[in-house]
Amino acid sequence: MSEDRAHYPPVDPVKAGIGGRCPRCGEGHLFSGFLSMRQNCRVCGLDYGFADAGDGPAAFVILIVGFIVVGLALWMEVNYGPPLWVHFLLWIPLAIGLSLWAMRLAKGVLITLQYSNKAAEGRLDRPE
Ligand SMILES: [Zn+2]
Repeated sequence: MSEDRAHYPPVDPVKAGIGGRCPRCGEGHLFSGFLSMRQNCRVCGLDYGFADAGDGPAAFVILIVGFIVVGLALWMEVNYGPPLWVHFLLWIPLAIGLSLWAMRLAKGVLITLQYSNKAAEGRLDRPE
């Protein structure tokens, strides 16, 4: 990560991440597409090269959306016992929709948290 010498007022990383905004200035956009990142912020020029959420957003989305959808499916099965096609009709679109919606939020929040906590790959500190 390059040295960050610019001075900006503090930005709430969760708020900026949910809105898909720049973690430094809170104004510029983080994404150029649905989940693809811009090269840098168009407002403050922050290079987004540091951003690497990895599998983090997918793991959170799988756990949270899976808990919600499976919980609802079990609740419906125990209370109403509908035929199998009703489960498919309800829970597959809900799982896909919630996952797509949550994926962008989770990626934005993890990247803004990465920036605010200066999280980076571990490096060995070797004496010269
Ligand atoms: Zn910015």
